[in-house]
Amino acid sequence: MNEAYRNLPSVDQLLQAVKQRVNGAALPHEALVGVTREVLAGARAAIATGHAPPASDALAEAAARRALVLFQSSLRPLINASGVIIQTNLGRAPLSAPALAAMQTVGAGYSNLEYDLESGERGSRAMHLDDLLRRVTGAEAGLAVNNNAAAIYLALIALAAGREVVVSRGQAVEIGGGFRIPDVLRASGATLVEVGTTNRTYIHDYSQAMSERTALLMRIHSSNFRLTGFVHETPLAELAELGQARGVLVLDDLGSGTLLPTAGYGLAAEPTVQESIAAGAHVVTFSGDKLLGGPQAGLIVGRADIIARLKRHPLARALRVDKTTIAGLEATLLAYARGNATEEIPVWRMIAAPLELLHTRAERIAGSLGASVASCRSAIGGGSLPGETMPSYAVALVTPQPDALAAELRRGDPPVVSRITEGRVLLDVRTILEEQDEHLVRVVREALHASGHEQTSSAERNNE
Ligand SMILES: *Cc1c(COP(=O)(O)O)cnc(C)c1O
Repeated sequence: MNEAYRNLPSVDQLLQAVKQRVNGAALPHEALVGVTREVLAGARAAIATGHAPPASDALAEAAARRALVLFQSSLRPLINASGVIIQTNLGRAPLSAPALAAMQTVGAGYSNLEYDLESGERGSRAMHLDDLLRRVTGAEAGLAVNNNAAAIYLALIALAAGREVVVSRGQAVEIGGGFRIPDVLRASGATLVEVGTTNRTYIHDYSQAMSERTALLMRIHSSNFRLTGFVHETPLAELAELGQARGVLVLDDLGSGTLLPTAGYGLAAEPTVQESIAAGAHVVTFSGDKLLGGPQAGLIVGRADIIARLKRHPLARALRVDKTTIAGLEATLLAYARGNATEEIPVWRMIAAPLELLHTRAERIAGSLGASVASCRSAIGGGSLPGETMPSYAVALVTPQPDALAAELRRGDPPVVSRITEGRVLLDVRTILEEQDEHLVRVVREALHASGHEQTSSAERNNE
């Protein structure tokens, strides 16, 4: 037993071995001493529980690896080959080149964030997006906050705290990540009044539930599920008419929302922000990083006096966006204003990608891997268009252990996130950024090699 401890290297000996291994990484001495002690302590604990003493080389290797990880970013870019365009877990919308450039420029220096260049006096950060939001949505005014959850929360607190909000039973839903409409309503100090049934809610259900305590009629877009069959949702225009007649505001939470019609791409129609405004909603909320394709944000557009109230509310300060977000949003919204969103914004480029182009890319990647091409289906994701998919092409990898290969791909540099369908590992090219094709080929080749399953087939096979 004692001998086992004596065979361990000293801190100094191990430290020298670790330094040789991380040579060139310029890691601070203190950090190397720290991991060296940790690894030695681990080895002593292992010996104490009856394990054989680890070899010095293995200890040095473990300490070096641990030291390198300490100075690596935890947040790493990866290749999304899953075929889900807007994936919350993978960071939702990739940003456009102009949005990134604007964020870089504004982030790197000073700006007129809250400074009026005309007068040389204090300005408002809300002024930068107000006009653009008006132009692209048709609303009277607009405001950006941290995310759509914050947008809903601010609207409810400012417009309905201490009063009642009427919501269809079929819309009092959980949106994801535990974000539940009834909980948010309660947290804002408003009282939820559920009307109708899960599948059918009519305008008279709303009107019968209204009283002098009613502050808002709220519609929530059922973004992550779909009711089919014997279903009736009250059209927004009817709600707006009722609200108008009774002097009650109508809040429409679109979730993703979109400024471009999705129906032009073989998809069902996701409601547009412009449609909600035109239908008479007084306040409309939607995300910045779903189908809009910009940075994380929540956008609130609607009647000018209501937006002004929201801006003045003390909570607006707590939920406000920073300069880089404003810069990214402005550049993203400008693409819509100029009419070139489908060329410029990655989310829309992916939606609009011609099938032949996807096929060509899949062939090229598959060709250099000796793999085959399969037709597959991509999804929009991000709580928009549930159940809707678009035809696409994937590189199909054949292996007896698809889970093991998928795990090996995730260990790549950069990691690759794939999808397993019918026992094959699929790499859907629709969500792979074109500039990533080369990296993808390298990582996949390494993963196939590591798992011993180099591909041999180049014949095309169909997946569905
Ligand atoms: C996604 C979503 C939200 C939350 O938006 P975040 O930007 O993630 O905060 C709210 N409502 C609906 C209907 C959604 O789909």
